[in-house]
Amino acid sequence: MSEHDEKQVIVIGGGLGGLAAAIRMQSAGHSVILLEKRKQLGGRAGVFTEKGYTFDTGPTIITPPFLINELFEFAGKDVANYVELVRVSPKYRLYFSDGTSMDYGSYNDNIGQIEKFNQEDVKGYEKFLKAIKPIYELGFEKLGSMPFETIWSMAKLAPAGIRYRAYRSVYGMVSAYLKDHRLRIALSFNPLFIGGNPFTATSIYTLITYIEEKHGVWWARGGTHKLVEAMERLFVELGGEYHLDSEVDQIAVSDSNRVKSVSTVDDRSYDANIVISNADVANTYMKLVDKKVFRKKNGDGLYRRAKYSMSLFMTYFGVEKQYPDMAHHSIVFGPRYKELLDDIFKKKVVPDDFSTYLHIPTRTDPELAPPGCETMYACTPVANLDSGTDWESKKEEFSNHILNTLDKRVLPGLVDNLAVKKTFTPADYETKLNSYKGAGFQLQPILMQSGFFRPHNRSQDVKGLYLVGAGTHPGAGVPSVIMSADLTTQMIFDDIEKGVL
Ligand SMILES: Cc1cc2nc3c(=O)[nH]c(=O)nc-3n(C[C@H](O)[C@H](O)[C@H](O)COP(=O)(O)OP(=O)(O)OC[C@H]3O[C@@H](n4cnc5c(N)ncnc54)[C@H](O)[C@@H]3O)c2cc1C
Repeated sequence: MSEHDEKQVIVIGGGLGGLAAAIRMQSAGHSVILLEKRKQLGGRAGVFTEKGYTFDTGPTIITPPFLINELFEFAGKDVANYVELVRVSPKYRLYFSDGTSMDYGSYNDNIGQIEKFNQEDVKGYEKFLKAIKPIYELGFEKLGSMPFETIWSMAKLAPAGIRYRAYRSVYGMVSAYLKDHRLRIALSFNPLFIGGNPFTATSIYTLITYIEEKHGVWWARGGTHKLVEAMERLFVELGGEYHLDSEVDQIAVSDSNRVKSVSTVDDRSYDANIVISNADVANTYMKLVDKKVFRKKNGDGLYRRAKYSMSLFMTYFGVEKQYPDMAHHSIVFGPRYKELLDDIFKKKVVPDDFSTYLHIPTRTDPELAPPGCETMYACTPVANLDSGTDWESKKEEFSNHILNTLDKRVLPGLVDNLAVKKTFTPADYETKLNSYKGAGFQLQPILMQSGFFRPHNRSQDVKGLYLVGAGTHPGAGVPSVIMSADLTTQMIFDDIEKGVL
């Protein structure tokens, strides 16, 4: 690359997507400065330590690991020298409200368990896996890394969409194959990991089940923050620069609608040929760029009208007791499934019952807690801030309710041995991570907000502005945001090649 081709790139936000994009741009010989609002990198994949208990704040399930290998390979490095990824088994333990449970693991493990629930469903499970294999091949292997910039790119997929009945929900598809209501839950809850309601997320997202089936569930040894540290180290080794405590409040655009610079809330300004925003998409378009840049009459209306994902109520806790029989990842389901999801996604209320994802990293890495203790979090899907809930006044009562329920159902003695408790509410997602409506995963993964209909990786309104992360294609979740970094930077490389930038 000649000096003439070298661009000044500003990445706004140091989530996994922003970091991956920064690494790719820096590896390709550009000069990258990453500006992060918070005092640490990682975004949702943050970390904190309290009284010797170390908590990853967000993602814990990594799959498929080859995407991370590819990122390091792109930079000419071997990921094994930076972070160790270990396979977790069972993938999850599922606790149903009738007192039964299931270890969801490999195909063979699952067959044995499914038999116990409903003999007939063994065949249904096999057929379901056969049915989702081509959806995975199309949706993940092909479309996940394909840009959707024209309606035609989407229209071409209509026959496949009809063939795979993309208009059907994940739950609808699972129910077509399995009869037992617990197995229907077990095989349909996955869209919640990317902010979707299993009853409205397009059945294309059954591909998540197939990804886990084919590639397994992995954990970064020492915690997800070790992956963030590995990416940070790689970026700095490549010559990249990052600044914490640097909230961007404006992306300045020239008269010809081309990015010029970005400025921070404390009045620093950085020139830029290219800006890659890993900040919340709605906030990028509604707050960081001037409305006059919008080509279309509706301006930023698209972002106001979009359907946003649910939020999460996080309870991080340390226990002076060990639970050797517990799994690393568990889901504790409440008594209601569809009705609870209706409350969260449609009625936008916070009922008394809940389902929660229970994370116990000390089952794999005991050093994350003092000797003889366990580090845990309960990640509870709740309505986003459209619920109008005053979380500041509710958080104490709600977190106690969650801990008491876990004590009764799966962690006896928890409340009496509680050493540390911290919460992170939907209001914190809004104020601390700048997430519009406090949504945990930005836009919901429904058909009309996927592919072409999701905010594009290359801005249609501003030259030189690109998006990366959960709000753009292919969507939320660790694999998707890492893929979005690949896709977005490939677009940038093409634009440089064509002389557009
Ligand atoms: C509790 C939880 C558990 C999850 N578990 C899993 C899991 O197990 N597996 C999985 O695959 N996915 C999981 N996810 C989803 C996954 O974590 C996210 O989709 C993904 O990490 C989002 O990455 P991102 O690149 O979009 O950036 P984000 O993590 O959203 O980071 C964006 C960054 O931009 C910064 N920022 C925002 N505005 C500005 C600004 N104006 N100026 C400067 N900086 C700014 C923010 O501070 C933040 O650091 C989970 C999510 C949550 C919340």
